[in-house]
Amino acid sequence: MKKKRGLVPIEPESSLPLVDCHCHFPWNQNPARMVETYEKQYELFFKEGGKYIISCSVDWESHKFIQKFVESHDNMGYTSGWAPQTVTFTDKKKHDEEFSQWMDYIQNNPSNYLGIGEIGLDFHHAKKLDKRKRQIEIFKKIIHETKSLNKPYILHVRNPTQNDVDIDNPNHEFNDFDIVNKIIIKILEEEEIEPSRVMWHCFSGPSKEWGTKIASEGYIISAISSAYGNKKMLRFTSEVPISNIVTETDAPYQHPYQYGVSNTPRNVKYAIAALAFSHSMDQKEVAEIVLNNARNFFKIKL
Ligand SMILES: [Zn+2]
Repeated sequence: MKKKRGLVPIEPESSLPLVDCHCHFPWNQNPARMVETYEKQYELFFKEGGKYIISCSVDWESHKFIQKFVESHDNMGYTSGWAPQTVTFTDKKKHDEEFSQWMDYIQNNPSNYLGIGEIGLDFHHAKKLDKRKRQIEIFKKIIHETKSLNKPYILHVRNPTQNDVDIDNPNHEFNDFDIVNKIIIKILEEEEIEPSRVMWHCFSGPSKEWGTKIASEGYIISAISSAYGNKKMLRFTSEVPISNIVTETDAPYQHPYQYGVSNTPRNVKYAIAALAFSHSMDQKEVAEIVLNNARNFFKIKL
């Protein structure tokens, strides 16, 4: 086994039992940037020991093509989401029409999908107060109207950085470095959502303390394959018990170590290697535990 330079994880082992708990697969990518077709990626994932792929939609259009693909492929499921970016970047009229179609589907077909999400808040993409308030309004509405379905929630949580300050309201608390975490937790508590029903997708802090805090409350944290090449991300989950962790790629985004290259579900093995490193465990042992965590969280047969 080849050891990488410095304090970074070793290479992923082969034939690990992998579950990618969050990817966008298939996706509306520029075909010119794709190395392999989705069918090829699917085939290789299982050939290399993969067990299950959970694909995630972010709006009504992606819901439709992902549902279609998942229903014609074994060992796949999907979570259906309404991402905060969808709220911010869709024309109001279109947004409201498609949101009600999506909500209708969610409420009437809970056995078709594994979870609701990604949903959440993104104060990097929404920099202005009105846009931020609108994301909060929609997030609250989704939780309130779907909580009795008892499905898992998959969160997209992005705090504002120093570059995301709302210049019209520079002293507003919505510019704080951990404000999105705080708002999300407040809403979930008000709606009495059991933390074990909630997965924080692509957990990105904003600090190690936040990782420890939310895990101690019982939330599930998803470690991403790109943590393999990112020491900061690796630190965020370093003290989170392995019993609270699942793994994902967020493919085609966030390649584990290359810039500008499409990610693929089988790279979830890099999340395993990163966790084995941060938790000083065997890769095989990590893979088996996170597989079991995914099975329990999404109630899938593996
Ligand atoms: Zn995603």
